[in-house]
Amino acid sequence: MVVGILGGGQLARMLALAGLPLGLRCRCLDPAPDAVAGHASELVVGAYDDPAALQRLVRGVRLVTFEFENVPLAATEWLQQHVVVAPTPKALAIGQDRVLEKTLFRSLGMSVPEFRAADTLDELRAAVAAVGAPCIVKTRRLGYDGRGQVRLQPGPELPTAIDAAFAELRPAAPGGLIVERFVPFDRELSVLAARGQDGRMAVYPLVENVHRGGILRRSRAPAPDLDPAIETSATQFVQELLEHLGYVGVLAVELFEVGGKLLANEMAPRVHNSGHWTIEGSVCSQFENHLRAVLGLPLGSTAMAGGGVATMFNLIGELPARRDLLALPGVHVHAYGKAPRAGRKLGHATIVGDDRATVDTVAAAVEALPPTETGGWSFAG
Ligand code: AMP
Repeated sequence: MVVGILGGGQLARMLALAGLPLGLRCRCLDPAPDAVAGHASELVVGAYDDPAALQRLVRGVRLVTFEFENVPLAATEWLQQHVVVAPTPKALAIGQDRVLEKTLFRSLGMSVPEFRAADTLDELRAAVAAVGAPCIVKTRRLGYDGRGQVRLQPGPELPTAIDAAFAELRPAAPGGLIVERFVPFDRELSVLAARGQDGRMAVYPLVENVHRGGILRRSRAPAPDLDPAIETSATQFVQELLEHLGYVGVLAVELFEVGGKLLANEMAPRVHNSGHWTIEGSVCSQFENHLRAVLGLPLGSTAMAGGGVATMFNLIGELPARRDLLALPGVHVHAYGKAPRAGRKLGHATIVGDDRATVDTVAAAVEALPPTETGGWSFAG
């Protein structure tokens, strides 16, 4: 049985790896000939909107899914005429647009940071005045890992900063801009859930996330010292969201916790970086559960495994020596086989155990390891 995936990065690679023991093979479409999913699956090289490449992707596949949401909608529409597409392109369209996302969250009763859409410079000025500084200007579409964002501070420089933000972001923002009130959050959380074709749902324990420079650095599961009321409210919200969208597959929602309350920031209609710990830390990983869901198979348990505590640490821009990483007790290493580049997610390490303090000590040791040359890690040599 072959599953098609739009995108051939590390998420597709981990989906493909999760599929192998279930007797599934994946075929991925990616414009890059060295896309790393190619190490574990068949890789079709081509543009997402190239009909010939899409035709090669769908030949003989059971269905097509995504590893990221910034896929041209025209491609998903073409695909829908030829094959089952899951999750639904409707969820993808909402996940591509920060204004649609936040509007939907609010309509489902979830609080969001105050926001305004803005297309023109005048609209941006008015939006900043309405929302109030400090605030963040973001591109509505195509932003990821903190790219396409400018923070604005209150003060005499604000009018000039608004003009500069518009000049920087607007040319690369075909969908326009959004201004969001800056949230002085206590911490960031995320909730991951799967919904099967039969409508059954499975929600993973809430995760605490730390970002650096807009990129996820560390996830801890379950989120330490979590108020059960917060867990319940996030769990109910993600279930309502999945139900509302008629969603099939895994979806993640990023949240801010502030003063004992939750605000929803964005959703990812796909497997998510803050769920990588589930490979070793859950009975059934997010990757396996996504495949199970889209194929109409029973979902696996989202209960914690391996001791009940997990920390995932992203390896960004550079990698420590393999020998040093593997010398740390209980560290599970995932190197994606990518060439090193500043700000690039090259791999991650997960530590599981039965004691938060011990797991965190090992995670701190991973973080403290010195980077090495590419030596020994890169598939490209
Ligand atoms: P995003 O691309 O929206 O996930 O933003 C990347 C990161 O920027 C988030 O994980 C937060 O750390 C931070 N951030 C985004 N939006 C806000 C906001 N409205 N208030 C405070 N921090 C934010």
